Amino acid sequence: MQKLTNQDTGFFGEYGGTYSPEALMPILEELRVAFRSAEADPDFMRGFSDVMRDWGGRPTPLYHAENLSREYGASIYLKREDLMHGGAHKTNNAVGQVLLAKRMGKTRIIAETGAGQHGVATAMACAKFNMPCTVYMGAVDVARQAPNVERMKLLGAEVVAVESGGKTLKDAINDAMRDWIASCDTTHYVIGTVAGPHPFPTMVKFFQEIIGREAREQCLSQIGRLPDYALACVGGGSNAIGLFSGFINDSSVKLIGVEPAGHGLETDKHGAVLCKGTVAVLHGMKTLGLQDEDGQIFETHSISAGLDYPLIGPEHAYLRDSGRASYVAVTDDDAVRAFHILSKHEGIIPALESSHAISYALKLAQEKPGSTILVNLSGRGDKDLAHVRSYVEEHNVTI
Ligand SMILES: *Cc1c(COP(=O)(O)O)cnc(C)c1O
Repeated sequence: MQKLTNQDTGFFGEYGGTYSPEALMPILEELRVAFRSAEADPDFMRGFSDVMRDWGGRPTPLYHAENLSREYGASIYLKREDLMHGGAHKTNNAVGQVLLAKRMGKTRIIAETGAGQHGVATAMACAKFNMPCTVYMGAVDVARQAPNVERMKLLGAEVVAVESGGKTLKDAINDAMRDWIASCDTTHYVIGTVAGPHPFPTMVKFFQEIIGREAREQCLSQIGRLPDYALACVGGGSNAIGLFSGFINDSSVKLIGVEPAGHGLETDKHGAVLCKGTVAVLHGMKTLGLQDEDGQIFETHSISAGLDYPLIGPEHAYLRDSGRASYVAVTDDDAVRAFHILSKHEGIIPALESSHAISYALKLAQEKPGSTILVNLSGRGDKDLAHVRSYVEEHNVTI
């Protein structure tokens, strides 16, 4: 009998799998089979690569942050996903899934979004590939994230403001799921991170592996060696898994995921899923989540909306348990400091999400002088300017 692989079961150790309503099982199986055939098809992969290059701006550069390196005592390199079209790594996944949906004969795309970044990436890909696009977004988020709502509409997407429950991401996910169950014959649901039922964690990782593949080649050709550390911020975990995948077989490269600690690890039980989460079955998968004794999932509150997800991609839970990757947490204040430091020292304004990884890299550089540290700069920070300014004033952060 043939050995079952992750491609068949979607399990990473005990995590992952498919814990979905019966009505979704056939469509998830259809998706799994279609994805498997697409990834093995050179024509599909060539199409993906061509769009990534000409429309998406890949490969993104590997940049030696010389000023920071001098100041902090280690060689710090940034993988510049902030330079990707759309300003973050999310474009890789959105394009991959919309291409796959087209190949499957689907005629409509839906997505859900919290801060709006994934909604914008999906709307961009749908405009490019002439697919009607509906994005579910909690009404509270619609009000908070007006510029992204405007972008999505400009790109031709319909934005549905969800009025149920707390009117945020959780409620948007419920409505998107309900839509999908009713419309899956014609519609593909683009999930934005390495979470959800199989095959999503495996498929989203596949489209983000391009980050790690490029970074590894660039390290060898530009530095002449592999890094000692590879760091990335972790929300659901897609930019981190994309970077880690390039180095997973290089045991000398330590993989570190950086989670949001909110106000601080001791006082805030809402951040850092991998540091403090317990096993949960939710959103179609078995993974770690932040929950109370009754299994109620907490609302998270990190300074960066893009890291505000109370669950974690199942593969990260597995990598943590196996010891192949380790996970740390950085507070809001420290992320805001790193946001300023990278801007001032290198002329690069990082996304607040990415600033968590930058912050930990600076700490690590001082602890391990002379080491080579690779950081995934997952996105650019122009979107965060107003938010950072008011945070600094409100919390009296010393920069
Ligand atoms: C959405 C986002 C993240 C978090 O998502 P992951 O799936 O954990 O990568 C990180 N950085 C940026 C810039 C983002 O937009």
